[in-house]
Amino acid sequence: MEDKEDNRIPGLSNLEEDNWKDVRESVKILCGNFSGEYWRKLDNKREYPEEFVEALTKAGYLACLIPEKYGGSGLPLQAACVILEEIQRSGGNGAACHAQMYIMGALLRHGSEKQKNEFLPKIASGELRLQAFGVTEPDAGTDTLSIKTKAEKKENYYVINGQKVWTSRAEYSDLMLLLARTSTKSEDKRTGGLSLFLIDMRKAKEKGLNIKPIRTMINHATTEIFFDNLEIPHNSLIGEEGKGFKYILDGMNAERILIAAECIGDAKFFIDKSTLYAKNRKVFGRPIGQNQGVQFPISRAYADTEAAALMVQKAAKLFDNNISCGSEANIAKLLAADASWKAGESAMQTFGGYGFAEEYDIERKFRETRLYQIAPVSTNLILAYIAQNILGLKRSY
Ligand SMILES: Cc1cc2nc3c(=O)[nH]c(=O)nc-3n(C[C@H](O)[C@H](O)[C@H](O)COP(=O)(O)OP(=O)(O)OC[C@H]3O[C@@H](n4cnc5c(N)ncnc54)[C@H](O)[C@@H]3O)c2cc1C
Repeated sequence: MEDKEDNRIPGLSNLEEDNWKDVRESVKILCGNFSGEYWRKLDNKREYPEEFVEALTKAGYLACLIPEKYGGSGLPLQAACVILEEIQRSGGNGAACHAQMYIMGALLRHGSEKQKNEFLPKIASGELRLQAFGVTEPDAGTDTLSIKTKAEKKENYYVINGQKVWTSRAEYSDLMLLLARTSTKSEDKRTGGLSLFLIDMRKAKEKGLNIKPIRTMINHATTEIFFDNLEIPHNSLIGEEGKGFKYILDGMNAERILIAAECIGDAKFFIDKSTLYAKNRKVFGRPIGQNQGVQFPISRAYADTEAAALMVQKAAKLFDNNISCGSEANIAKLLAADASWKAGESAMQTFGGYGFAEEYDIERKFRETRLYQIAPVSTNLILAYIAQNILGLKRSY
């Protein structure tokens, strides 16, 4: 059951000031070529949405944050948010490629001019994909400073040994940003002894880098990566040794804001679908949407989504103006992930048994949006951030 665009419920948060109407409109048109059936088929087989990613790349959307001098369109984060929100609202899943937008930020902010000139134009054109980000490890989890993957400096190269888990899209990426240990935590207490590397996976495969896919409850192309004496050149290092953790923290605000925008798109997808279904589905001789028990959860989901969307916009604006936005980015991610989850829950309830049927796409989006309670940062860790950094309470971990 595909819906027409005019079934969309208007938003309050973007009526007043939507500077990106044209971008919104063109992304909506592009996504219109990729139906629910397209996503369902891929989800069923856990296949990568190659055609969709190709179309987004060709249209330049994945290069929107790369400055014009390196071949991108140099748009602000606010525009990138609109792009991802529209993809999710159309019923698609931007997680297949969203990282191509923001992982390059580490290279842009901390890479040498030589590295930027070598890689950014190719990333902008789509010739190279940089959408694998290797941070999480099996034994470290949320505690990033405890990662063990090691980069040992030799005369002509670094040798990498260790393991990453949940490195998404690695099979569909040419390059990978890797966080690895160059000294022990105790040797380098201030920075944790972590460094950031840009690895050319095309060269590394079969030479010490092995990728093992993990099948999950969603179609996310996520993997485990094993490093066994992988040699990478010295010029793979981004910025200075020991500053990797600081560099990734710089990029986390962008990631959190963009993923929050995706959650807003998911929530709007659920609200549009639930409202239409509630109007049309008749039980006891009248539309189910005439019952307050059905209306109210959708109304609440709408209100929560609009409020969260305002925080996403605020965080994105601060980011674009180079104003510190850690609290806003975290809160935007928390509220938007909660809004999409609640909207998904109300959609499941509104659809009754049909929520479980694959053809309505509710169950697929319900599974997909659940991820954002956990990744890229879990709800608990954001609450701990608020407690410690805003409320001034003692650090709990
Ligand atoms: C589909 C998917 C894709 C992913 N993609 C990537 C990727 O591309 N790159 C990458 O590096 N990582 C990726 N991740 C990893 C993701 O960022 C982590 O799963 C997440 O940060 C949580 O780590 P963990 O799973 O080890 O949970 P754990 O750290 O083991 O935590 C388990 C639970 O305990 C809670 N918890 C832990 N410590 C505390 C505390 N102090 N206070 C309160 N609660 C706490 C957590 O909130 C969580 O709910 C992905 C994960 C998934 C599932």
